[in-house]
Amino acid sequence: MQPHPSGNPPLVYAWLTMKREMGELELIERIRSEWGAAGRGAGGAAGCGSRSLARSVALGIGDDCAILRPPRGHELLVTTDFTLEGRHFRRDLHPPESAGHRMLARGLSDLAAMGARPLAAFLSLALPGEMLATRAGRVWVERFFAGLRALADRHAVPLAGGDTAESPSDLVLADIVLIGSAPAGRALRRSGAHAGDALYVTGELGGAAAELAEMDRRAATNPAHPYKDLGAPSIPRSLRNGWESTSLSSGRINQPNLRPPRMPAPNHLTAHPQMFPQPRLAVGLALLRRRLATACIDLSDGLSTDLAHLCRESGVGAEVSSAALPIHPLAQQTHAAQAGRAGAAPTRALDLALHGGEDYELLFAAPPTARVPRSLAGVRITRIGSLVRGSSISLLDSAGRRTPLKPGGWEHFSGKHQD
Ligand SMILES: [Mg+2]
Repeated sequence: MQPHPSGNPPLVYAWLTMKREMGELELIERIRSEWGAAGRGAGGAAGCGSRSLARSVALGIGDDCAILRPPRGHELLVTTDFTLEGRHFRRDLHPPESAGHRMLARGLSDLAAMGARPLAAFLSLALPGEMLATRAGRVWVERFFAGLRALADRHAVPLAGGDTAESPSDLVLADIVLIGSAPAGRALRRSGAHAGDALYVTGELGGAAAELAEMDRRAATNPAHPYKDLGAPSIPRSLRNGWESTSLSSGRINQPNLRPPRMPAPNHLTAHPQMFPQPRLAVGLALLRRRLATACIDLSDGLSTDLAHLCRESGVGAEVSSAALPIHPLAQQTHAAQAGRAGAAPTRALDLALHGGEDYELLFAAPPTARVPRSLAGVRITRIGSLVRGSSISLLDSAGRRTPLKPGGWEHFSGKHQD
């Protein structure tokens, strides 16, 4: 790829460079027009549809820098996350829409954890040269952007810039930066909790790891099209049909193929915690607005690990009641399915909930006197324990027995526990 004259190639320039290398005018023009054309000029929205986005992005894709316009009296919050093929998704396992969705969901979840409202996203993406040279590869890229775009639209997040390059390996490598804003001095932090505070989680836990285990198992038996043959968890037929109909007819990209309708409806999305995790932005905003939480963190690495982060930053310990944990139905199903098969001992649903990770729910603390509702923004809220003096974190079973709860992440793609 040739260097950009100004040294720092914006997304559009990089795509146009790829266009020459690929000889695929339609694909790049399609992506450029979908994501970039509206971002030019002061007051223009930067991709991702809604004209209301113009308020946060004064200048989007197309210049050397984007210009953001945070609300008056707000501070900016910034988070960046790698998405590396083989580490954060598998091209043979995750549908491309899922890879795009998950990449953005990770950053949005970090903003949610601090009660921030997203202002803009910036994507740096390295694609294997082989991918750009084949039709199947280009369809993958198209569908990847469709997944990213659908989630961005749902939360009104404009893509305001980025960079692309040819990957030095045969892996897809990406980094996404999310910029958000929160009223000055009000952003939720990990460090504000006190001994005596009650501990809550949103949604249900263990579903992402359970769905991944099932995807992995089915991929092993049907490696050619692993995600076409998922039973429970299942991909809705409408979505499956949409994927299968994705095509480049006569080298042209059909407009509908870049549109969100191929994505599952929101009620179906909740059934796919691994493929389409839902960042809890509305809950984070409600916690901040209602001044309910003393501390908050999102569950990216698993409850046991992320609770340890919150406790360390707040200088407290914790007691978690195992019976109180809202365990995702897929985690229960995974245990039951494994128990019916020969081989290794089945994974306990409780272990998936404690250590599974990637659920992207929120874990927060609130004063014992706070009136925390049973749901916020339509999302279930469950009290799972309390914060205590000291630094020890323990699990209480239903018989009142106490065991240490050690941080234990889940080695997602090997199915092994890591200490
Ligand atoms: Mg986080």
